[in-house]
Amino acid sequence: MNTMMSTPLTMSILMDRGPALAPENEIVSKTRDGVHRYTYADLGRRARQLANALHRLGVGQGDRVATLAWNGYRHLEVYYAVPCMGAVLHTLNLRLSSADLEYIINHAEDSVICVDEDLLPILEKLAGKLPTVKHVIVMSNTGNFTTSFSPALDYEKLIADESTEFTWPEIDENSPMGLCYTSGTTGKPKGVMYTHRSNYIHTITGGLPDLLGLSRSDTIMAVVPMFHANAWGLPYIATMLGLKQVFPGPMMDGASVCQLIQDEKVSFTGGVPTIWLGVMNELLQNPGKYDLSSLRSMICGGSAPPRAMIDWFESNLGVDFVQAWGMTETSPLGTVTRLKPKMKDWPKEKKLDIKQRAGIYAPGLDISIVDDFGKEVAHDGVAMGRLLIRGPWIAATYYKEDPTPEKFPNGWLDTGDVATIDAEGYMAIADRSKDLVKSGGEWISSVDLENSIMAVPGVAEAAVIAVNHSKWQERPLACVVIKPGVEVSREQIYEHLEKYFAKWWMPDDIVFIESVPKTSVGKFDKKVLRHQFADYKLPTE
Ligand code: ADP
Repeated sequence: MNTMMSTPLTMSILMDRGPALAPENEIVSKTRDGVHRYTYADLGRRARQLANALHRLGVGQGDRVATLAWNGYRHLEVYYAVPCMGAVLHTLNLRLSSADLEYIINHAEDSVICVDEDLLPILEKLAGKLPTVKHVIVMSNTGNFTTSFSPALDYEKLIADESTEFTWPEIDENSPMGLCYTSGTTGKPKGVMYTHRSNYIHTITGGLPDLLGLSRSDTIMAVVPMFHANAWGLPYIATMLGLKQVFPGPMMDGASVCQLIQDEKVSFTGGVPTIWLGVMNELLQNPGKYDLSSLRSMICGGSAPPRAMIDWFESNLGVDFVQAWGMTETSPLGTVTRLKPKMKDWPKEKKLDIKQRAGIYAPGLDISIVDDFGKEVAHDGVAMGRLLIRGPWIAATYYKEDPTPEKFPNGWLDTGDVATIDAEGYMAIADRSKDLVKSGGEWISSVDLENSIMAVPGVAEAAVIAVNHSKWQERPLACVVIKPGVEVSREQIYEHLEKYFAKWWMPDDIVFIESVPKTSVGKFDKKVLRHQFADYKLPTE
């Protein structure tokens, strides 16, 4: 007999907590028309009005409701209402190509799309190509929009007369609640379907002090987009805790982010390295302009933050700059880097060595690094292996696909990343397996080389790719972007690299390029570079 309650782990329990316990706390959203403010009590009421409206439109359990939207309060209402009413929230990445968006919407069979007014042009390109979409709901601040979609509903008018009461249905905890597609850095987008159970456990665990470390005293700003990997779960964790939330809307440039942190006294924020580079540059160019003393913690993930940037934020703002690793398939929190107590008194450079790693796995998960034969490699911080992960918020298969043994070997997810784990348990990403340079059977981490090149003064960006080589199969080629108005020579870069790397790791050549191509979420798109330099003749040939 079950001796404890088997209360289903469903998202409504967590989402209703903020409005119940902190009804007066604020939710602040920057929009193109100004700043919008309301409270958790408003959020709870409007989420129920939306649920009533969607119900009236025929949205039932398991139906997919998509969003194409910036970070803002209406997006949060959809995040809240859709899973709680038993439907599935499908966040669309607004930076994807039309072809990818069309593929994803049709693959997911979305029945409704909620779209921000200024993003309508993205959707209009797909008019006539989305047979399953019955309703387009426009989230507009003015109500004065025009669109070729018919009928297109106005979000505000749609919910205005609805009741603020809605009894969330009882849902099986293994029911789907959210759908995200990988952004296709390494191929066609694939759907990851989160369940109430997986997201519930992810939400509760994610806030722990050694992970994101959030409390109800925080004011949080998710700069990481709500259209990618659920904004790392931040909207769910924040709503569960009822803490003040700040949304940047489309304004994610350095100046806007700094202003919002100052105005709303943000204490915690999260975003990808590109965002923090923008913030750092804004602060460097305008010393003394902003008061960011409210900020205590910054989470950075999605790709590896440069060491110099981690150091700059910690030394100049006195914040805890925390690196996290994860992926769409891992909900996304996998590992987070926080120093162990014994490390707090270590010299700065030694602490940075740790902070530069991707971190320790979250409680509830299990990670492993293996060689090509599936054998665990040493946790010595040097040996590289394919990173495997498993646990209750890790994908067991892709949506509408059977799990393949290559991607899901023996109950694990093969992340497609190659990593090292040190003796203290800190994992570091060495590369994506597709980006790794395989030179004569040995592995060279393109990420390590890039990070080191980006530490050379005057270098703006660096991407290292594998180029075919007749003797070694592959050798590294460094593609480097120099800051405007600065001169950096190949010799300077080689001189720098020689201090840190063995001779056989040295790039066979360095080319200077205008900019590194980026993916829809701002990561280096090495697929494009590899294609561009496919026939490049290395001088060592
Ligand atoms: P995609 O880039 O295909 O859209 P995701 O957005 O889910 O997929 O990104 C997941 C990948 O991002 C990881 O597999 C890893 O390669 C990379 N990544 C995430 N966080 C970090 C980090 N802290 N350091 C290095 N790489 C990271």
